[in-house]
Amino acid sequence: MRSLFFALVLSIFATSSQAAGRPNVVVIFADDLGYGDLGCYGSPTIRTPHLDRMAAEGLRFTDFYVAAEVCTPSRAALLTGRYPIRSGMCGVRRVLFPNSKGGLPVGEVTIADALRVRGYKTAHVGKWHLGIHAGSRPLDQGFDQSLGLPYSNDMDARPGLPKGSTGSPNPPRDGWNVPLIRNGKIIEQPTDQTTLTKRYTEEAVAFIREQKTSPFFLYFAHTFPHVPLFASPEFSGRSRAGIYGDAVEELDWSVGQVLETLRSEGLAENTLVFFTSDNGPWLIMGDQGGSAGLLRDGKGSTWEGGMRVPGIAWMPGRISPGVTTELAHAMDLLPTALALAGAPLPSDVTLDGIDLAPLLFQNQSPPDRPFFYYRGDQLFACRLGPWKAHFKTQTGYGQPKPEAFEAPLLFHLGRDPSEKRNVAADHPDVLSAIQNAVTAHQAGVVPGPPQLD
Ligand code: MG
Repeated sequence: MRSLFFALVLSIFATSSQAAGRPNVVVIFADDLGYGDLGCYGSPTIRTPHLDRMAAEGLRFTDFYVAAEVCTPSRAALLTGRYPIRSGMCGVRRVLFPNSKGGLPVGEVTIADALRVRGYKTAHVGKWHLGIHAGSRPLDQGFDQSLGLPYSNDMDARPGLPKGSTGSPNPPRDGWNVPLIRNGKIIEQPTDQTTLTKRYTEEAVAFIREQKTSPFFLYFAHTFPHVPLFASPEFSGRSRAGIYGDAVEELDWSVGQVLETLRSEGLAENTLVFFTSDNGPWLIMGDQGGSAGLLRDGKGSTWEGGMRVPGIAWMPGRISPGVTTELAHAMDLLPTALALAGAPLPSDVTLDGIDLAPLLFQNQSPPDRPFFYYRGDQLFACRLGPWKAHFKTQTGYGQPKPEAFEAPLLFHLGRDPSEKRNVAADHPDVLSAIQNAVTAHQAGVVPGPPQLD
């Protein structure tokens, strides 16, 4: 009885000292994890008990999207709540490279910027990939602290690295010279990638435990399952899906550690955790590439497999367990996080997301709204309700030029989630409604100065 009393007092203390009413926000972002790679999304082989539990306790989205089919623009969109074309974080080069001159413009308002001015402690853990120059780095974009890689783990390959190493089931540990950076300083180079997920997790857990008085925002952007794939010894060789499955199972363990820390610190009911992936699976990597399930194509393409990804929201006691088929996307996270924090939306900024609180907490459907699929700075497709029109298509990798359609392709994503049957001829009214949505959207887009080319 007495221990129960103390537990109660402690939990009240934890909640009140955490400024109840201003919830914490945690975004966990996998890299290149496909729609079909988690148990709760139908993977028959990869074991993800922690994410499955998160989904069972939270709200699992069937129709959650990211704003781009590759890393850099997708990350820019999540953190700013804007289509990447508005920030200039998209282009022919598709992502930032170590020799790129650009990066996320310092004037862009990130979730971290907006929450920090409201008294939140902000931490970045994991892959950044939004620029390595002054103005674009984590500490310039609203984060109090940062630990992670500046870009993808397959960049900065060592001279003479044998072709095919990146997508190998057994990549060389010293094959890439990517640095591990803490608060702007290189602390390890090359990074030992085998223990990266574990070390990221320790950092995230320590950050959560340190926050006793302020609300916090944690942006936890995993390096894996982007190739080259590594897992720590405890996970190597354990999955039925090879090294890809090992990496995903370790990532699942990491999610379990974060959620368990929130529970044990008495913070679970006051913390919104959102899990998603930056783009679909990198299918050209074969067995090291993951799966989009029944969705068509993968990373790099504007077919569903490139941009529809797992999306799970968790906040025990606030979010009722369930599955939603409502359309939502990563650009909704900024308005949602700011609303939870009672922070005003940035002024003079065009946002492309909405506050998901009514859906998350009251099960209210959001208004019907179009979603636009960009590849670089080109609009390739648009979804409205269950319908999706393609104006151009191009497979993720290996097709040099897009195919443009005079008469757009039209698919019904409810009846035909794999986008196999073009029904444009039967639905001219739907196509004209989509065309109107595209025209209205494009009239309001002012492209930002290109950062990637
Ligand atoms: Mg990616």
